[in-house]
Amino acid sequence: MLYDREKCAICGMCAKLCPQKAIANVNNFMVTDPEKCIFCGECVTYCIPGARQVAGKEYTVEEVLAEVLKDRVFYEESSGGVTLSGGEPLVHIDFVEELLIRLKAEGIHTAVDTCGAIPFEHLERAAQHTDLFLYDLKLTDDAKHKEFTGASNKEIIENLENLARIHANIQMRMPIIEGVNAEVSHIESTIALLEAIDIKEVHLLPYHAIAKHKYAKLGRDYLDDKMQIPSKEKLEHFREMLAEQGYDVKGG
Ligand code: SF4
Ligand code: SF4
Repeated sequence: MLYDREKCAICGMCAKLCPQKAIANVNNFMVTDPEKCIFCGECVTYCIPGARQVAGKEYTVEEVLAEVLKDRVFYEESSGGVTLSGGEPLVHIDFVEELLIRLKAEGIHTAVDTCGAIPFEHLERAAQHTDLFLYDLKLTDDAKHKEFTGASNKEIIENLENLARIHANIQMRMPIIEGVNAEVSHIESTIALLEAIDIKEVHLLPYHAIAKHKYAKLGRDYLDDKMQIPSKEKLEHFREMLAEQGYDVKGG
């Protein structure tokens, strides 16, 4: 449930009409209780200025496939395909597995973008049907990983090592965030980690603040005092470090 304070006229209709009594006016900010909201969309219907929005839409596999097939000609022209991303798509493994099977049957190239923080069985099931994994690696230092993500990176690293044994096409995706991991030591430890894994392509993803407005609409704090955009010089230095080790390094 997204809420745009800038558009809100504080008329109170949403709070009045919500069947779950999930909305409250807190200092002229209409706060939604996520425990109570059932995403029925009633409040959106009655919000004349359009300050409220239910983000996302439910699809069946059949509906997604129909949408994808409309663009088949573009995939054929560009050698492109379909990337399942998120959030974490492999949380929905039954849906993902069925969709991958259907896409493969249509001859469409597929990629799965994962953070790796899921049971290995989910990766194993997707691995049988996808052409490519885009695997995120945020931090090799476990203590820092816990600090910034709230969880250990042990499962992520173990899953990467095991995935590389059963799937030949994995690209690493490394977000580079000043104030978090934009350090030579992080690149060095990543190189050491990847040494034993057969991965050829690494993508360096410089941090950007595009999600900032979405955090505001969710009423959540954004850590922009801690996270900054890395300099071009640093990115180039990291690119060179990885390229020297033989990796095909892409930016962005
Ligand atoms: S209905 Fe819309 S404009 Fe009125 S208080 Fe709720 S969010 Fe604001
Ligand atoms: S989507 Fe439905 S349950 Fe959720 S806040 Fe709006 S009216 Fe209430």
